Parts: sequence; structure tokens; C-alpha cells
Amino acid sequence: MKIEIDLLSCKDFGECVQTAPNLFALDENGKQSLRSNSSGNKVNFEAAEEFRGVAEEAAIVCPMQALTILD
Ligand code: SF4
Repeated sequence: MKIEIDLLSCKDFGECVQTAPNLFALDENGKQSLRSNSSGNKVNFEAAEEFRGVAEEAAIVCPMQALTILD
């Protein structure tokens, strides 16, 4: 499973972290932790299939609709 975060839309609210702490984190500055890994507007990462349920839930609760499950 691949998860994409639209870093332009994401406002670092952290709902995804509360819903799926195995997949998402905020850094020490309270920012989506994958921001520092990306120079572009979007970043994606591979996640284990067993987390698909919580990933889908995180995509639903994200107030900015910044999360997409790509496959
Ligand atoms: S819930 Fe959405 S807006 Fe909030 S940190 Fe996660 S991806 Fe960003």
C-alpha cells in the first residue's frame, strides 16, 4: 500500500497521527514529520497492508483531505 500526503493541503493538525500513530507522526516542531523528507508538494511512502484500515480512516478524518491511498 502506498500513501500520499499533499503537503500543500496538510495544515499539520495531527488528526492522522491520533488515528494512525503507526503511520503518521508530527515532528518536534509540530509539523507533519514527512515534510522534512520532501522538497516537493507531495510525499508518499510504502506502508504495510495490515494498516490499510487505519490509513483509510485517517484519510477520512483528515480535515484538509490531504491523504490519498494510491494502491
Ligand atoms: S490530518 Fe491531514 S492536515 Fe492533519 S497532519 Fe494529517 S495529513 Fe496533515
